[in-house]
Amino acid sequence: MTGKELYYMAEAKFGNMLAGDGPFTRRCHDWLENKSGCGKSLLTHSCTAALEMAALLLDIEPGDEIIMPSYTFVSTANAFVLRGGVPVFVDIREDTLNLDEGLVEAAITSRTRAIVPVHYAGVACEMDTILETARRHGLKVVEDAAQGVMATYKGRALGSIGDLAAYSFHETKNVISGEGGALLVNDPALIVRAEIIREKGTDRSRFFRGEVDKYTWQEVGSSFLPGELIAAFLYAQLEEAERITDERLAIWQRYHELLKPLEAKGLIRRPIVPEECQHNGHMYYVLLAPGIDRQKVLDALKKSDIFTVFHYVPLHSSPAGRRYGRTQGSLEVTDTQSERLVRLPLWIGLTAEQQENVAEVLKHAIG
Ligand SMILES: *Cc1c(COP(=O)(O)O)cnc(C)c1O
Repeated sequence: MTGKELYYMAEAKFGNMLAGDGPFTRRCHDWLENKSGCGKSLLTHSCTAALEMAALLLDIEPGDEIIMPSYTFVSTANAFVLRGGVPVFVDIREDTLNLDEGLVEAAITSRTRAIVPVHYAGVACEMDTILETARRHGLKVVEDAAQGVMATYKGRALGSIGDLAAYSFHETKNVISGEGGALLVNDPALIVRAEIIREKGTDRSRFFRGEVDKYTWQEVGSSFLPGELIAAFLYAQLEEAERITDERLAIWQRYHELLKPLEAKGLIRRPIVPEECQHNGHMYYVLLAPGIDRQKVLDALKKSDIFTVFHYVPLHSSPAGRRYGRTQGSLEVTDTQSERLVRLPLWIGLTAEQQENVAEVLKHAIG
């Protein structure tokens, strides 16, 4: 909490405007558009909902293929599978654990419709190459920027680069509203339809702006907009997004320095952030050296009251991923890196002393 969340929620309540697209939603939209430079932002219930809107907007039909990493959260794939799309899982890079842009082209077929890069840990994918590949093959690019709020690639905000992008404001992310998200629309041709899909398939948004004199059912849509209480909470967080990011980056950097000696001994590998990427301190993870038993390390940390977790079970090895998706080439990096990864506690208020303790316990757990 940053301080003003409940105050703004009370303001929304006393303003007698609790449904979606009221004053706080508009303030969030303005903030997101000014900060990211995206074409148009639309608050949603979640990043998952924003990705589902993206699949509707791109008219994904049964059998259409969507290229994405296997090392990601289920929603990246699920949103397209709901429309009958087929996720095509491509391997990730050793350094950033992001979609390996060099492997995308080989995965393209006549059924391919879109590429979905996921900016893992708020570190950008190699977007220039991905956009160039997409352009050459007439494909759309949807950024899964769930973890990318306030991060940049070559100075451009994540979420403002692809045709479409999805942010998450889930409690586990940097800027939060409990559940929450946003669809960012950068292709101007998609803005009007995005508003319609979000408002139950109607042109209600245009009606409210006085552009049409009644609103009607225009196409298939759903209810994707959050109420004003959520937007009010979120706006308080957005106002403090810079401070939140700075504090997280400071904690991230402290881990990075504390763990340097362990990396020098070859026991772990620390995160690698390419020079053109400014991340947002979303996550600090380490990759254990091959041969170290991860479960033993997690257990040892737990014994010292340090709760650490690993991350995604790659989608291509999950029951639904096997049923609905297919793999392209070897996913060796995905399989090996995901089994070595341990995420360390990172939240605002974590003290330097606590971080030193985490590093110390980790050292003993590995040693
Ligand atoms: C958190 C996350 C999501 C889902 O976000 P929700 O807002 O919980 O729907 C999707 N993709 C990635 C990469 C995520 O980290």
